[in-house]
Amino acid sequence: MKTLSTSLLVIGGGPGGYVAAIRAAQLGIRTTLIESGPLGGTCLNVGCIPSKALIHAAEAFENVCRYAADSPLGIRVDSPSIDLAQMLRWKDGIVARLTAGVAALLKKNGVHVVKGWANIVDGKTVDLQPENIGAEPLRLSCENLLLATGSRAVELPALPFGGPVVSATQALSPPSLPKHLVVVGAGYIGLELGIAYRKLGAEVTVIEMLERILPAYDDELVKPVAASLRRLGVRLQMGCKVLGLGAGGDAVRIYDARGDESKAFELSADRVLVAVGRRPRTEGYHLESLRLDMNGPAIKIDDQCRTSMRGVWAIGDVTGEPMLAHRAMAQGEMVAEIISGKRRRFIPASIPAVCFTDPEIVVVGQTPEEAALAGLDCLHAQFPFAANGRAMTLESAEGFVRVVARRDNHLVVGWQAVGRGVSELCAAFSQSLEMGARLEDVAMTIHAHPTLGEAVQETALRALGRALHV
Ligand SMILES: Cc1cc2nc3c(=O)[nH]c(=O)nc-3n(C[C@H](O)[C@H](O)[C@H](O)COP(=O)(O)OP(=O)(O)OC[C@H]3O[C@@H](n4cnc5c(N)ncnc54)[C@H](O)[C@@H]3O)c2cc1C
Repeated sequence: MKTLSTSLLVIGGGPGGYVAAIRAAQLGIRTTLIESGPLGGTCLNVGCIPSKALIHAAEAFENVCRYAADSPLGIRVDSPSIDLAQMLRWKDGIVARLTAGVAALLKKNGVHVVKGWANIVDGKTVDLQPENIGAEPLRLSCENLLLATGSRAVELPALPFGGPVVSATQALSPPSLPKHLVVVGAGYIGLELGIAYRKLGAEVTVIEMLERILPAYDDELVKPVAASLRRLGVRLQMGCKVLGLGAGGDAVRIYDARGDESKAFELSADRVLVAVGRRPRTEGYHLESLRLDMNGPAIKIDDQCRTSMRGVWAIGDVTGEPMLAHRAMAQGEMVAEIISGKRRRFIPASIPAVCFTDPEIVVVGQTPEEAALAGLDCLHAQFPFAANGRAMTLESAEGFVRVVARRDNHLVVGWQAVGRGVSELCAAFSQSLEMGARLEDVAMTIHAHPTLGEAVQETALRALGRALHV
């Protein structure tokens, strides 16, 4: 067996692992990264990027269809149609450009990338099962081991993946468009993809065990999304549980969880997307041999991403919620800096969350309820996009921006927004929290006109009792 020693060994080339590796190499740390699949992990290959590409393509098609039916803008279009294969080639092209970019960055910075499956021997040793059969196995020893192995889709025992039952990964590269897609789970992944499929022309029904969609977000934020689902014709079966596929395999058996299982009924479906959450990937690579402290299904870490074993670090989805690419990247960058000798802690003012539904939802920091629960005396204010000129020119005047700030000193503790394109307001929201902005700082900043950002300024003005445009 060949052997190799390195200073930092990273398992997993997703956004957490590859960012950690690049930063470590920049800081002069001898770094090796093991990845069994394509670089970029879930995010670039089967997550954030391809889903947003599909969402954009579906929205473009829906706009054209809408204009074909009746356009207040005076645009006339005849019989729009979809070339699904071309749409997927376009999406795959974006993924290929980004993953090639990651490979180039790793190489440029001098990271040694090894392809294959990592099996942990101990906290300082990892065996590599090479990608190519017949290739010589490799044993790597390291001073620091960074676990960035990500997560995997949760499978429902009643609806195992296979045949018509797919995870988000397969739903992002469909061989054809289903006639009727049943989505199990009304969280952000299920709704983002369900809306995209509906816009592409499929009938879509969403089944959810709880009584509401997007349970992570408050009622006011969810209301415009629920209205949009109704407008698009996405059917909702709330409070329902799935029993499995029907006998013919072309229907899903469900029942109202508030009632009797014997009253189950069937919904015809030629494809079923199960999107009921993701689970840290902690199996299949002898992680158990390290006997690390766990936090439920996730690896337990402290505020420096140290695990319970000295020299073993963990970042990203494998450490649990919030499972978001930007959290994984920020943790990766921090771990590299700590190993290089810098003093860092992971104590962000907030980790923004964006839901790319139609309309989009952004949550940064505390909502009014969360602030109250934390014992803070806060005021909050909302500004509607119906009073924002730019929103009207984008044919999208639904939704609002909300700010939450301490009553005594006006320190901003949270921003929320729902509306078309609000994901791009996230940078302003996060910066204001991280920099300790007060309502006056935002209200006194000149915001360019006409932009959606003016709604941010107006929200701060309104919280101060001085709104100008509402
Ligand atoms: C459909 C979908 C949409 C999403 N949209 C968003 C979004 O809009 N915004 C957002 O922030 N997040 C989004 N996410 C979540 C985001 O993709 C993850 O939070 C992010 O990828 C986590 O990064 P990571 O580095 O922790 O793990 P991953 O990206 O999962 O990477 C882990 C890597 O480790 C490799 N690996 C694991 N074990 C081994 C081993 N033993 N040997 C070798 N290699 C191994 C895997 O092959 C994988 O490439 C989405 C996820 C999905 C599924």
